[in-house]
This record gives sequence, structure tokens and C-alpha cells, in this order.
Amino acid sequence: MSNSTNNPGIVNNTRNYDVIIAGCGAAGLYAAINLPSDMNILIICKRELSLCNSMLAQGGIAGVYNSPTDNIRYHLNDTLTAGGFKNNVDAVHTLVSEAAQDLEHIIELGVDFDKNPDGTYHRTLEGGHGHHRIFHHADATGKEITTTLLENVQALPNVTIMDNTIMCAAKQTSTGYSAMLRLSDGSYLTANCHFMILATGGIGRVYQFTTNSAIATGDGITFAYEMGARIKNLSYVQFHPTAFNNRATRECFLISEAVRGEGAYLLNCNKERFMHNYDERLELAPRDVVSHAIILESRRLGSTDFYLDISYKDADFLKNRFPMIYQNLLEQGYDLTKKPVPIFPCQHYLMGGIDVDNNSESTLHNLFACGECSHTGVHGSNRLASNSLLEALVFSRHAANCIASRAAEAPEDFEAAEFDPHIGADTIPKGIRTETRKILQTAHFVIPDKQAAAEGYERVKEIREGLLSGGYYVDPDYVLAKSIVTVAYIILGEVKD
Ligand SMILES: Cc1cc2nc3c(=O)[nH]c(=O)nc-3n(C[C@H](O)[C@H](O)[C@H](O)COP(=O)(O)OP(=O)(O)OC[C@H]3O[C@@H](n4cnc5c(N)ncnc54)[C@H](O)[C@@H]3O)c2cc1C
Repeated sequence: MSNSTNNPGIVNNTRNYDVIIAGCGAAGLYAAINLPSDMNILIICKRELSLCNSMLAQGGIAGVYNSPTDNIRYHLNDTLTAGGFKNNVDAVHTLVSEAAQDLEHIIELGVDFDKNPDGTYHRTLEGGHGHHRIFHHADATGKEITTTLLENVQALPNVTIMDNTIMCAAKQTSTGYSAMLRLSDGSYLTANCHFMILATGGIGRVYQFTTNSAIATGDGITFAYEMGARIKNLSYVQFHPTAFNNRATRECFLISEAVRGEGAYLLNCNKERFMHNYDERLELAPRDVVSHAIILESRRLGSTDFYLDISYKDADFLKNRFPMIYQNLLEQGYDLTKKPVPIFPCQHYLMGGIDVDNNSESTLHNLFACGECSHTGVHGSNRLASNSLLEALVFSRHAANCIASRAAEAPEDFEAAEFDPHIGADTIPKGIRTETRKILQTAHFVIPDKQAAAEGYERVKEIREGLLSGGYYVDPDYVLAKSIVTVAYIILGEVKD
């Protein structure tokens, strides 16, 4: 591939690639695997390779694959029911009917799902699923899938992986896209491509409390928004009902839905079960219903003390089935085999995002988005448990296939956009992220507060304008703050109207 450019811009160092993928989670990695081997691909992640939401996924990946008692129609219905029927039915059909193909592919790539003694795959149950259809690797499924995909990508000679490399800005050019990257040594690079895939993950860090990893600041959504791509349903945020209740840290350790799938009870501050007052599916109601019930029960009793109790089950079974959760809770002073564990809802997942079609293409030509930053419409207003890893795989393969089908039409040359990182300029004022997080946590938690959203919107708009016009040094702090503020601005704008 040529490294010539027409317009070097202010960041003089440039490189050209057929495809740039922003994100080394399940979506970005699986896209790289499915792209043609003669394409020159750059895949980046802004921190270390292991820091992403994909690595944190516990419960598993849903799918109908060699399942005699299940079928894709059931999976479709469960997905639509959980999503409040606000899903894109065609996209859901794609998701459930192509699950088998991608599950089989990742098994071939080396992913090791748990099996029964007879050699068949063990499928577990989670809230909202009418059948046992969750494939898992104990309670560390995301780590198993992501590390296997990463090993496969690392073996591809056509793929360059750059970690600790943050995309600071992106622009559309006459030949595709340009991105300003800040490399691990602090230098800047303009990387140009014909096709760009944004796979930058979720937005959890826009909240005070979240299960998400530190990378989840909505950068890709912000870049797409700034370039003029359509962003859809960003206020469709999922709050997981059972995060470990540790109000001391931003990242709340998740206690997987699979624990309720194995029979755990939810208890209020009086250590009484209460779900029967809210939904006939009890603890196995979908996430939004359970989170809602907890908040209502919390208001009724004037307490935020809630518990998850599975201590009545066999201790050895629990230690084998949930080794990571067991160990993590033990380190926090809780033995889940012996006593109830404190939980409370917190931000967990984003259903909205960069609006894409069935090819995972955004409203901008050759700009693709997949994984949690995208809006395929499969989740409706509430994601069914374990459908997001599946979505990341199915729709990143679609992006790769679409790019492959257009590769021959790509231009010969690469235009480089101009970027100015304002080296030597002031850094952003302190406190922007903290203030924005507080606003969102108050205005758009489980039960949105329209008045707080309207007031928060005006403040966040002001902060955003200051960031955009301030001429600040474009370092990682600036990029993250601008993303957090932009995501909050879009969400609050949706909620207030
Ligand atoms: C605790 C937890 C448990 C979960 N459990 C499950 C489960 O059991 N089943 C399920 O289906 N889903 C689960 N999910 C959701 C699922 O893990 C995620 O939705 C999915 O993994 C997202 O994958 P992704 O590739 O889109 O993003 P991620 O895996 O988050 O990857 C994002 C990547 O983008 C990179 N990036 C971001 N911004 C930039 C930038 N500016 N420049 C360069 N790189 C950037 C990051 O460095 C990272 O490599 C869980 C999520 C959490 C948080």
C-alpha cells in the first residue's frame, strides 16, 4: 500500500491503510478476522489490549446452535419482548438466524465453551430467555472469547495492532477517512484509510456508577456525531439490577444475570423477596423490569439496601459455576455461598448508538460501526442478556463482508485531513467529567427525571461549547472529556424533549 499523501496537514507524520478499525474488543477483532487477507488493516486501542468491556463479559453469549429444544423463533420472540418491541425486527432476525454460523466460527478459532459430561455444550439461562441458550466459559466468557480472537488477529500478517494509541479526532475526506492518532510515546500521527470501522464500545463512564471499563467514554459515537453521521436512541441506556453495591468506586463489579438464572433471590432491606409485587416472572424478569422494581421498592421502603441471595445452593456447585464472581466477592469480604450479597442497579449497557444498516454502515459512506457503539436496532429499548457479544460478532462480520465487496472500487490514493493537536496550549479545566457524570446520574438513571434533564442539558451544552472553542491541548484528557460531554449532551437532549 502507498504511503503517499496529498496534504500532510499540521500533523506531518502520516500512514495509509485500506481499513482502520478503532477498537480491540470483540467487535473490532472479529471484523479484522473477517476482512480479506490482502487488505492492509490498522487496529488500535486507546489503552492496554485487555482493557475493554468484552473482557468483562461474564454470563455468556446467546444463540441457537445445535439446540434440539430451542429454535430461532423463540430467541427472536424473547429478544423482542425484552426490547419492548422497539427493536428492528429485520436486524433481530439476522441476529438470531446467523448466531449458529458465528458461534461455530469462534469455536473453530479456539473458543472453549463449557460442556456437559456427555460432551454436548452446556447452555445456561438468564433473565428474559425462555430457553437455556447461553453458551459460556464458566463466568468469564468475555475473556475467553476476546483473548482467543486477539490471538488469531495477532497471527494475521496484514493487520497492524497498535495499543495505547488513542484516536483523537476523525474526518471524512475525498478518498475515505483520516484520523488523528496519539501514539504511546505521545507523538501524533495522521492515519488515512478508505474504510473506517468504529468499534469503540459503550458509554458507561459518562455515569457516576457503571459496570463498564475505563475505556467506555463514547469516543466513536462522538467522532461519528462530529462527522455528521446519524446517532440514534442514545437515551436507551440499560441499568443492570445486580451490580455489587460498592458506592466507593466508579466501576461496580457485576454479579451476572446467570446467578439469578441459577436461582438467586432478590431481597429488600428487610431481607424479604419482593419481585412478586412487581412482575410474575419474579427474579427472571428482563433487566429493565427488575431495575425498575428495585427503584420503586427502594422508594417505598426509603432504603437503598438490596441483596442477592443464592446461599441456599450447594457451595461446591456455586464455586465451580461462578469462580470469578465468588473470588471477587470474597476479596470484598462476602462469601456468596454463605450470605446475601449487597447489590444495586447501575449503568451497564447502551442500546442506542451510531445508526447503521444491515451492512453495519453508518449514514456516511464507508464509515462502519459495530459492537456497543453502534445502533443496529436489535436490542430495542432493553437488551436481552447475552445478546451483545452475539451482536458484536454477527454485525462486525457484516461490516467486513461489505468492505470486501467494495475493495476493488477503492481509490488508488489517500487524502490526509488536517489536524491540529494544539501542542503547547492549555489543558482542559479540572472537574468537567465529574460534573457531567453527576448531572447524568441524576437526570437519566432508571426512572428519568425530565426537569433535571432539561436543566442538565443547558449546563452540558455550555461545557461542550467551551471545550470546542477553547483551543485546548488535544491530549487524552481532552478527548475523553469531550466524548463524555458530547454523549451526555445527546442523551439529555433526547430525554428533555
Ligand atoms: C461487566 C460486564 C459484563 C457483561 N457481560 C456480558 C455477557 O455476559 N454477555 C454479553 O453478550 N454481553 C455482556 N456485556 C456487554 C458486552 O461485553 C459488550 O457490549 C461488548 O463486549 C462490547 O464489545 P465492543 O467490541 O463493542 O467494545 P469493547 O469490548 O468495550 O471494546 C472497545 C475498544 O475500543 C477502544 N477504544 C475506545 N475509544 C477509543 C479511541 N478513542 N481510540 C482508540 N481506541 C478506542 C478500546 O480501547 C477498546 O479496545 C457485559 C458488559 C460488562 C461491562
